[in-house]
Amino acid sequence: MGKKNSSSHVFVKFTCPNCLKQEIKRTAHEREIGAKYECKECRFTGPN
Ligand SMILES: [Zn+2]
Repeated sequence: MGKKNSSSHVFVKFTCPNCLKQEIKRTAHEREIGAKYECKECRFTGPN
């Protein structure tokens, strides 16, 4: 009650699953809608 859900401002940080070098940042909202990301190090893209 009266609490706002601010999940869209929550950042998820993880290391690139392909090269394990680049740190990738996404918002919980981007994750929810399945927005794609790209690793700047190895050009790996994906929703995972
Ligand atoms: Zn990478």
